[in-house]
Amino acid sequence: MNIHEYQAKALLREYGAPVSDGRVVMRAEEAKTAASELDGPIWVVKAQIHAGGRGKGHFKESDAGDKGGVRVTRSVEEAAEEARRMLGRTLVTHQTGPKGKTVNRVYIEEGVDIDRELYLALLVDRSTSRIAFVASTEGGMDIEEVAAKSPEKILSFAVDPATGYQPFHGRRIAFSLGLEGKQVKQCVQLMGALYRLFTEKDAELLEINPLVITREGNLHCLDAKMSFDDNALGRHPDIAELRDTSEEDPKELEASKYDLNYIALDGEIGCMVNGAGLAMATMDIIKLYGGEPANFLDVGGGATREKVTEAFKIITSDPNVKGILVNIFGGIMRCDIIAEGVVEAVKEVGLNVPLVVRLEGTNVEEGKRILNESGLNVIAADDLADAAKKIVEAVKAVKG
Ligand code: GDP
Ligand code: MN
Repeated sequence: MNIHEYQAKALLREYGAPVSDGRVVMRAEEAKTAASELDGPIWVVKAQIHAGGRGKGHFKESDAGDKGGVRVTRSVEEAAEEARRMLGRTLVTHQTGPKGKTVNRVYIEEGVDIDRELYLALLVDRSTSRIAFVASTEGGMDIEEVAAKSPEKILSFAVDPATGYQPFHGRRIAFSLGLEGKQVKQCVQLMGALYRLFTEKDAELLEINPLVITREGNLHCLDAKMSFDDNALGRHPDIAELRDTSEEDPKELEASKYDLNYIALDGEIGCMVNGAGLAMATMDIIKLYGGEPANFLDVGGGATREKVTEAFKIITSDPNVKGILVNIFGGIMRCDIIAEGVVEAVKEVGLNVPLVVRLEGTNVEEGKRILNESGLNVIAADDLADAAKKIVEAVKAVKG
């Protein structure tokens, strides 16, 4: 789960990390009061969307100006004006895609004078199964670009969970960033705070880009991006509360209500599969035969007919879906339940695209009988390869 910058900064503040005072604003009328509660001489107005690159982004609507989603202003009036111009507009950044994201919240904060912009992140390093620090002198830029063009400018190391964070970790980062004097001590403290926040709240990513050195020579967190392990949210009600569902893909949101593992993708073949491994294999084999999956959907082991119906409805509601492949290996999941769910869903929402079904395992004959007797135009398949080949061909035929 992702959260907004202002929410991440509140957590940083709670853990003693240096962040500016700020106010979040959801309605234009509130902007001036919010800004007047903050001290100048700089007020920074920042669009709150779950995507980075806001500073270099642009608004679709001309009346929002073309100055991007982060604006440095010099008065309360100017800050309020910029906030008003952003609210309700669509911000497009390299991370939002061309559709952009609607700005429903704006953060106004006390600005700082910047001497240097640095990069700092904590993440879960899958190769070592440990939490890793990533630091670079090249802050403010895309770290992917730095990694591609000048990887020697990135320091990265994992922390041994047996010892946890130690001051030498912080010193190592401080020296690689060229920090001096009091900044070294600030860095050791800040890294400790970030590590504590990361582990205590079961985060997946904590990125400060840029971490800056102010004109006065202090370390300061200017931006903050955080995401959390969904599977750990049960023990963090305070974090779960920060969820902003308006930022999420509506289909994924609907799926999460029914406890379905659904992820929207860019392709045209909708997949309904049981088991994450089989779902992966299904996506691979679709690609092998020249198609592209429109989603990843694992209905799970003990899905009910209702759950299967909802899953099927979510797939058919995607206008990009030009064909559907149901691939079930019935172990715990019964093939007849899948068949009933599919038939039920089609009764409710219809079926305008080819449907290939491959069923195998528990109650497979009953499942096939239900589909055959339903009058649905189902293309039956014998095995996984056959199924993938048939759906790719059927989609090609439809497109002509
Ligand atoms: P992003 O573009 O979505 O990553 O948003 P950031 O919060 O990183 O802001 C983008 C850029 O705006 C930063 O790299 C800074 O150069 C600038 N910026 C943000 N806050 C301040 C501030 O308080 N003072 C100044 N002078 N610039 C700022
Ligand atoms: Mn940033």
